[in-house]
Formats: sequence, structure tokens, C-alpha cells
Amino acid sequence: MDHFNYRDGVLHAEDVPLTRIAAEVGTPVYVYSAATLTRHFNVFQQALHWAPDYLICYAVKANSNIAVLKLLGDLGAGMDVVSIGEYARARTAGVPGERIVFSGVGKTRDEMRLALEGGIRQFNVESEPELLALSEVASGMGAVAPIAVRVNPDVDAKTHEKIATGKAENKFGIPLARAREVYAQAARLPGIEVVGVDMHIGSQLTDLEPYRQAYAKMADLTRALREDGHVISRLDMGGGLGIPYRRDNNAPPLPIEYGQVIRETVGDLGCSIEIEPGRNIAGNAGVLLSRVIYVKNGEDRDFLIVDAAMNDLIRPAMYGAHHDIVPVIEAPPGVERQPYDVVGPICESGDTFRKGAELPALSAEDLVAFRSAGAYGAVMSSEYNTRPLIPEVMVDGERFAVIRARPTLEEMLSRETLPDWF
Ligand SMILES: *Cc1c(COP(=O)(O)O)cnc(C)c1O
Repeated sequence: MDHFNYRDGVLHAEDVPLTRIAAEVGTPVYVYSAATLTRHFNVFQQALHWAPDYLICYAVKANSNIAVLKLLGDLGAGMDVVSIGEYARARTAGVPGERIVFSGVGKTRDEMRLALEGGIRQFNVESEPELLALSEVASGMGAVAPIAVRVNPDVDAKTHEKIATGKAENKFGIPLARAREVYAQAARLPGIEVVGVDMHIGSQLTDLEPYRQAYAKMADLTRALREDGHVISRLDMGGGLGIPYRRDNNAPPLPIEYGQVIRETVGDLGCSIEIEPGRNIAGNAGVLLSRVIYVKNGEDRDFLIVDAAMNDLIRPAMYGAHHDIVPVIEAPPGVERQPYDVVGPICESGDTFRKGAELPALSAEDLVAFRSAGAYGAVMSSEYNTRPLIPEVMVDGERFAVIRARPTLEEMLSRETLPDWF
């Protein structure tokens, strides 16, 4: 469920017509709904109501705008970060270190040091070399790093290959078969305190079965580790629950059903539960608002050339992802639709959002919205073709605010310098 609906024939974000945002901020622009973000966060809280203790660590990489982090942090969210940059964002948004978990396969020693200095809930350690490095850094500072080891359960998440992370062939985590050995090593190392077990098997999962398999393995491992004498008090279940990208399709499982799988698999272990949803909180809380520049009638097809491009929203080009594309001014019921190839201005054929999108007849200057663009949208954007990063807007009821401004060309160009021998 989201808060982007037609009212009087105009697509609104909550109580604000998107036409108004386009007029005042310009296009292309990302628009987020505070009510949708809040609602999704609350749904996950309800899904874990049974747990004596839990923390929803929003995966910052899905949408890392500081206003988004602040909204979620103020609701009580923790954060899952994968770089010191994301850590700094979370802290800037007012999230305390004890609610931040640090994931990622390539944490540097500098990142470890800064996170330890600033305060951290736990490091999710992904390899033995990383464990040794963290031990050295922490003990060198006279600090103790709380850790969970990310275990790779070797299950097929049945999602796009580029976002599956829980198979043996993926770079993530430590093989289950080596886990007890690694925990034994961790227990002996100075500067390390074992607190839990971590998994994350992939993103945009639309089936609960892979979770059930992975979490059952996690439960077995937890029992084995406890027999070995480790104190396992937290289980980090990762993120990855999928969202409906097509409104006309089978919806993925609900967070409440996902919460039940967690309860059934690990609920009897008395652990504090951590989950790391990203896409599910932010995805359907955002749209990319764009304007038609030209309608170009090709030989055998019509192109809708819009002012957003693959540098603004790369998911279609990178994953072949689908985003519903809708006109901002609602077509009257029964109006005929026609196929358009919706493309951006970038000089690559990959800059195609969709082939054969069935839309009512559109003209230059008309507005369209790409739905489900709140996660892995703005965060993955680039300045390719020297296109400025596009602004982000947050709507809350009847008000809206620019939460990242469009840079001027001067700002963009001024970051570059010429060598002094020129
Ligand atoms: C990407 C990622 C997430 C979030 O995945 P979503 O599909 O956005 O929920 C959570 N945890 C880790 C470790 C990740 O890498």
C-alpha cells in the first residue's frame, strides 16, 4: 500500500498534486511519501510484535537521504550500513551508534576505527581476514568490537542473479560448514566479542521458502554454537523481502507472513531479532516524476522521450527491472491506449525504461510517474552525460520539502581541477 493516488484526475503524493511539485521543483524529480515510509516501518514492527526484543535496522543503501533516515530513526529504526559514508549519514540523522549495524564484505581498517570511535551495535563480519583485521584495530584502540558472523547458508533465493547473495558461489559470508571454526577463532581473538549470527540471502525475494530454509539452518547453527560455549543473543535475519513492482501481478508475501517464518524458525531461541529491510520500506514510498520532451514517431513504433534517464533510475538498464509508468493526468475511463517505447535522452540504447508500454496518448510536456522508485533509485544515480543528480522531495500530508537540491552546472563543474602543468 502507498499514498500515491489519483484525486480529481491528478496523481497525488498524499495531499500534494504531482503537477505542483513539477511546477515548483522542476523535473525529473524523486518524490517520497512520509506516510508510506511510516506505514511500512510500522508493518515490520507489527510483524515482530511476538519477539521479546527486536530492532528493525533499515538498510540505508536502499534510500540514504538524511531526511528519510531521520524519519525512520525517529520512529525507532536502527540502521544497516555498508560504508562509513552511510554510517555518517545515519549519525547525522540522529541515529545513535548502538542502533547501527555495519555490514559489507570489504570494510577497511579506517572504517572499522571510525565506527568503533563513533559507537556501533555490531559488525557483521563476512570473512576470516576481516575478523583478524577487526581484532587488530579494536584491540589496538583498547576497544571491544561486538560481532555477528555472516553465514552463507547456500540457499537459492530465487531472485535476480545480481541481487542473490546466499549461494555458495556468492562473495558474501562464511560457508556454514566453516562457521563453528570461525566462531571458535573469534572467541580467542582480543578485541572481539561474539554477540550473534547474521544472514542476508538476497533482495527482492518473492517466496518465503528460501527464508525458511536459511533460517532453519541459522537455528541449528545457533544451537551448535551455544553448545560450543558461545553467547548468541542476537540473530540478524537480513533483509530482502520483495515488493510488488507490478500492480496487476501476484503480490509477494506480506511482512506479517515473513515475521511468522522468523517466529517459526528461530522464535524459540530467546534471541533479540534484527531485520534489515530496505526495499520493502522505501520502494513503494517513492516515484520518479518526469516530463515528456518529445513524442517521436519511429518507423514501426512511437518513442516517448522523457527527461529522466538511466543515470537517474538505472534498475531497468541494470536488472531489466519493471517500473509501472503512469500518466500524472489520469486518462478518462475507456480511453484507448497505445504502445510506446519509453526512453531517456542518454546516448545508449540501454537507456530504455520500457518497450511497448501501454499508455493513453501523450504529448510533449505531459508528466509521467515511474512507480516503486523509492528504493535503489536516487542512491544509484550518476552524472553520466553530465546530467546533474536530480532533486529529491519529501511529502508529508499537504506539505512538501526539497530534501536534496538539484546542483547547478557550476557546482558540478567546480569539483574538477586542472593539473598545475596545464
Ligand atoms: C542490501 C542489503 C539489505 C537490504 O536488502 P533489501 O532487499 O533492500 O531489503 C539488507 N542487508 C544487507 C546485508 C544488504 O546487503
